Amino acid sequence: MERVDCLFVGGIVVTMDTAFNLYLDGAVAVRGDSIIAVGVSETIIAQYESDAVIDCAGKIIMPGLVNAHTHTSMTLLRGLADDRRLDVWLMGYMMPVERQFVSPEFCRLGAQLACAEMIRSGVTAFADMYYHEAEIAAAVADIGMRGVLGETILKFPAPDAESYEESLAYTRRFIQDWKGHPLITPAVAPHAPYSNTDEILQICTSLATEYDVPLLIHIAETKLEVENSLSEFGMTVVDRMKALGLFAAKVLAAHCVHITPTEIPVLCDEGATVAHCPTSNLKLASGIAPIAQMLKGEVIVGIGTDGPASNNDLDMFEEVRLAAILAKTAASDPTTLPARQALLMATRQGAEALFIGDITGSLEVGKRADLIVIDAEPLHNMPQFNRDINNVYSRIVYASHASDVEHVMVNGRWLMRDRALLTVDEAAILKAAQAVAVQIDRFLEEREGDVLSKLLAIGGIEQSESFEVQVKARLNDESFVDKLLKRPDVAVVQSIHYRQYDTYFLFGDPDSGRVRYREDDRLGDDGEIKSVRTRLTFTMPTKERAFHQTILLSHSRFIANADRPLRFYREYFRPSRELELHKDRRRWHILYQGVLFYVNVDRVISPQIHGTFIEIKSRTWSANDAEIKADRIQEMITFLGISEADILRADYLEMQTDA
Ligand SMILES: [Zn+2]
Repeated sequence: MERVDCLFVGGIVVTMDTAFNLYLDGAVAVRGDSIIAVGVSETIIAQYESDAVIDCAGKIIMPGLVNAHTHTSMTLLRGLADDRRLDVWLMGYMMPVERQFVSPEFCRLGAQLACAEMIRSGVTAFADMYYHEAEIAAAVADIGMRGVLGETILKFPAPDAESYEESLAYTRRFIQDWKGHPLITPAVAPHAPYSNTDEILQICTSLATEYDVPLLIHIAETKLEVENSLSEFGMTVVDRMKALGLFAAKVLAAHCVHITPTEIPVLCDEGATVAHCPTSNLKLASGIAPIAQMLKGEVIVGIGTDGPASNNDLDMFEEVRLAAILAKTAASDPTTLPARQALLMATRQGAEALFIGDITGSLEVGKRADLIVIDAEPLHNMPQFNRDINNVYSRIVYASHASDVEHVMVNGRWLMRDRALLTVDEAAILKAAQAVAVQIDRFLEEREGDVLSKLLAIGGIEQSESFEVQVKARLNDESFVDKLLKRPDVAVVQSIHYRQYDTYFLFGDPDSGRVRYREDDRLGDDGEIKSVRTRLTFTMPTKERAFHQTILLSHSRFIANADRPLRFYREYFRPSRELELHKDRRRWHILYQGVLFYVNVDRVISPQIHGTFIEIKSRTWSANDAEIKADRIQEMITFLGISEADILRADYLEMQTDA
């Protein structure tokens, strides 16, 4: 008799090996970190003995599930801002909260919570991309799960790095520290092609090939990403990756929702693998990945939950079931992605997708002892039909729940026994996680009440201005403008013709200020559009002080390039009211007696306000300077033949509101 550390006997053994061997009354022998024997119980018991014999009658012994794509620490952001579009969710909520809260402690705690949840749902290995990945690795190794872990690299500053150079240096150290660890496979994780430059992507590739570690990346998640790639680089996302030589690395591409039939053979030929994340793709309405076509094209596809902020859980049983069901509807064919193949994607093929298929993913002699035991006879999975032994796959895929998982072992170590977690202090983690949620709630509550904080949170603020002197008047005779500009004491510095489309966001509390989204279409002499610029301006309520007929406006104004569509800002700011203004503006920068003024001659096209209006303004820095400039403006007003009755105090928006 040969002694082993543990014997699982008397259960249905689902090996998921290449022959798909099944044993109705089967057993698995474990010694150290490895599987020593798999087979019929009678044979195994005759050959092996152990002090730890686990009776698995009425249970299924199977490989642990492999979660091919997640962001573990985002458990702490679960349910934070649901039912929003990807850009609003990501840029408006996730990234600002991450900038504020993501720390080494946050990442460690989030990873612990995620590991506890994954162990409970029968996951033994996963691929992760996040920040402070060394903290995550330490937590994962401590808890005893298997992880392929990559530090996220972005072209813009990340919560744990001022620049991508820092992230790359961090990644190199991370790989050096963890390479060769029995549980952790370090990886390089550029976030996505759209969030990185060609140069960064190439450096990431050489880092991955230098150390022979996987490269984790998000690919073709949304239609917009592909459209942008086509317009910016003239290539689809996969083609761009190929052109950049990214496939020299072992690439695990998450999502691949919007890939064309010609890109599938590229992924296969280049040896890239795919992480299919159906819940996340459906919840964010990104689309349905062409999984059946990929599998037909012999691409290795695993299944992932994606981060718990977009799922919102890490339940792989649910994910496998959804993958199987969704593929059928996508193909209008219920024979597509049968249960056994779906389970394969979450076990052996999932491990292959993570490039750790040689050591895990199936119950085979010589592989690591990464296995789970699940209840085969719960209420929701009875009765059973055994005339075809293969029916067990459909029981697992279509009816088993995470809560059916009873035992979990990784690398020969017990992580859960009789539903009790052995390497995680569940109560302490839950308490700490709730404390973080309270802090985030408070942060968002403060921000939601303050439009400026909300604007600052999305970044890109360019400048702030405070004082200007200004007069606005009805212009009765436009020929006077020409006369003003031709005066010997006036020099025209610049002359511009715009078509301006403004959308104002107003808020219930007028003290909140207002946000203006402006599209400036610059027109040429022929009236053709020469260039388009979009800007976002936030203005606090204006304080006024009159100098003669001129008004000193003092306001805080923050200007940012609006690099996202109007819809993004609408959904992000959620104004209580919106107003639109469309006007034709001729604008001159002039020096009048050597002082710079801006002259705008406006015609408001929509909503129509009759007449032509003129604004003369100048920036100012002191009360004295403001008074001098107000005097100059007064002189120009006189040249323009404008009487006091023509002076207007209201801005166009107020005129529109009154109308
Ligand atoms: Zn992801």
